[in-house]
Amino acid sequence: RQSWLTRLRSGLSKTSAGLTGIFVGVKVDDALFEELETALLMSDAGMDATEFLLESLKQKVRIERLSNGAQVREALRELLIELLAPLERSMVLGRAQPLVVMIAGVNGAGKTTSIGKLAKHLQSYGQSVLLAAGDTFRAAAREQLVIWGERNNVTVVEQSGGDPAAVIFDAVNAARARRIDVMMADTAGRLPTQLHLMEELRKVKRVVGKAMDGAPHEVLLVIDANTGQNALTQVKAFDDALGLTGLIVTKLDGTAKGGILAAIARQRPIPVYFIGVGESVDDLQPFSAAEFADALLG
Ligand code: GDP
Repeated sequence: RQSWLTRLRSGLSKTSAGLTGIFVGVKVDDALFEELETALLMSDAGMDATEFLLESLKQKVRIERLSNGAQVREALRELLIELLAPLERSMVLGRAQPLVVMIAGVNGAGKTTSIGKLAKHLQSYGQSVLLAAGDTFRAAAREQLVIWGERNNVTVVEQSGGDPAAVIFDAVNAARARRIDVMMADTAGRLPTQLHLMEELRKVKRVVGKAMDGAPHEVLLVIDANTGQNALTQVKAFDDALGLTGLIVTKLDGTAKGGILAAIARQRPIPVYFIGVGESVDDLQPFSAAEFADALLG
C-alpha cells in the first residue's frame, strides 16, 4: 500500500498534469506566463488566486532576474507555500471537556467518512469520543454512523426522525456526564424540502451553546475537492451562516481541481485541519502547505 503522501501526489497529478511540463527548458517569456495562467485556471484556482500568483511571480522573476524554467518553478513553489501557509493549523484539543465539534457539509462531500476517520484519529491520541447522529433527515446517514460506532466501540447518540438540535443537545449532556474528551456532531447536508438548511444549522449551533457554555468549540465544514469552485461557494455560504473554525478537504487522492485550496487561501483563509486522501481510516492527514505545493507542481 502506498504512503498517503504518494497518494496525494499521484492524486494531485491530475491537477499538476497541466503544470509539470510547463517549466521544462523554456525561456521565461509571456508564453510561459500564459501557459501557467491556463494551467492554474484549469486547476480551479479561480481568477483571483491565479492573477495574484502570476503577478507575484512576474515581480519575483523581475527582481530576482530569473532566467530559466526551473527557477520560475521554484519561485512559484515558494509563492504557493506562502499563500497556503495560513491554512496549515491544527485543531487544539483539551480546551474543554467535552470539546464540542459540529460538522457540516453537503451530502456526498465525505462527512460521514471523515467523522469516522477523525474519531479513530482522536482515539489514537488517547481521546475518548462520542458521536451525535444529527442528520435525522437522512435515515441512511444515521444508520451508517450507528453501524460504524458499533464496529469501533464508539457511542453514537441517535433518535430516529427526531429534531437534530434535540439529538445533539442530548449528546452534549451525555458527553459531559461520561467525561468524554471530544463530542462530534454530524449534521444534515440537505433537507427534504421547505426548511432552510442554514437556518436549521444555525439552530443546532444555538442549542449546542445552551447545552454548554462556549460550545460548539469547533465548527468544521467538509468539502469535496473535486467540486472545485463550487467548494469555495460552499465555504463562503457556511462560513457566513455559522462562522467556520476549520475545514476538512476530502478526495484529494484523485482530483484535477487541487488549485481550489489557493482560492480558499485568498478568499476565505479558514484553517484546513485535515485532508482526505482515500477511503480508509488512515487516509485523513494533517494539511501541509509545503507538501501540497510540491504535489501540486508535480
Ligand atoms: P456524506 O454524504 O458527506 O456523509 O459522504 P460520505 O462520507 O458517505 O462519502 C461519500 C463517498 O465519498 C463515499 O463513497 C466515501 O467513501 C467517499 N470518500 C469520502 N472521503 C474520501 C476521500 O478522501 N477520498 C476518496 N477517494 N473517497 C472519499
